[in-house]
Amino acid sequence: MVRKKVRIGGLVIGPGEPVRVQSMTSTHTEDIKGTVNQIRELEKAGCEIVRVAVPDFESAEAIREIKKQINIPLVADIHFDYRLAMRAVEAGADKIRINPGNIGSDWKVREVVKACKEKDIPIRVGANSGSLKKELRRKMPVEDALVESVREEVKILEDMGFDNIVISIKASDVGVFIRANQKAHREFQYPFHIGVTEAGPVPQGIVKSSIGIGFLLMNGIGDTIRVSLTADPVEEIEVAYDILASTGIRKVYPEIISCPTCGRMEIDLLKLIEKVKPLWEGLKLPLKIAVMGCAVNGPGEAREADIGIAGGRGYGLIFRKGKIIKSVPEVDLYNEFKRELQKLIREVENAHEGGKGEG
Ligand code: SF4
Repeated sequence: MVRKKVRIGGLVIGPGEPVRVQSMTSTHTEDIKGTVNQIRELEKAGCEIVRVAVPDFESAEAIREIKKQINIPLVADIHFDYRLAMRAVEAGADKIRINPGNIGSDWKVREVVKACKEKDIPIRVGANSGSLKKELRRKMPVEDALVESVREEVKILEDMGFDNIVISIKASDVGVFIRANQKAHREFQYPFHIGVTEAGPVPQGIVKSSIGIGFLLMNGIGDTIRVSLTADPVEEIEVAYDILASTGIRKVYPEIISCPTCGRMEIDLLKLIEKVKPLWEGLKLPLKIAVMGCAVNGPGEAREADIGIAGGRGYGLIFRKGKIIKSVPEVDLYNEFKRELQKLIREVENAHEGGKGEG
């Protein structure tokens, strides 16, 4: 099966493209200032596609102004009302989420399809375990019902000659979520947006999302991801990048390697982590940075780290790839580590620049 690519604003998703991180605002979309502020926070955290709820005309119209003030593609989330979809498309949405099966008449779907074709924007269709039709649920296991539901939605669009489609199957049960996406992925050639829905608050939401999204990504499924947490959406972004890095799918930001601590610990490790973390805040380089609890075992246990710091009794070590490069009194440890980290960042950035020049 040849998998399709889809363009969402300035981004392309699909085979060979980076898996993109998405989130959704929790503001009332018609509150333009509040929504723009939240999207900017999300952008700063690394969000690459943002979805906003469009429950009424005011929200649909607000997209026009919001779009002028943000830099990432915007997805309009619409339920049932084709007129809201039309208005959102007209206002500049880069993608809409609507299920044609819920719109009502054929002619209304045709209107939406025509508008999306004219603006060349994709439609995300999908199914959610919480809103499956009762008839489908009664007839078959829930994962099959989810796939069947998507099949119906996709068919409506394809029958109208529309194939600029993104698929999304969501469930709050991790097993159902995985099995339904696996089945659908074997059947449809469109890009998949994946996320465990209603995953819950932290830490439960992080665990469920990591297992569900992580498993699918490691099996080649997922072109955009969203971690749904009952929390500030900015937190979702950090978790999403951690999932991408932990699965080895996409490494963008530094990864911290730190030990669980034990009786050999010779420093307040949590305090040390809190102190050094701001040193790489906002840094867009996939460095592995170790913060370890003792000087005896720390450098060895974190030998895969690009740079590390380990606490000792009155002194500390700084190491690179397991090799100790400095042993310094505890009072100087922070400043020395900062210096060495900045040196490493410069080296890596210069190497990247050099690489660009050669290419
Ligand atoms: S690095 Fe040291 S303190 Fe941390 S777990 Fe290993 S032995 Fe214990």
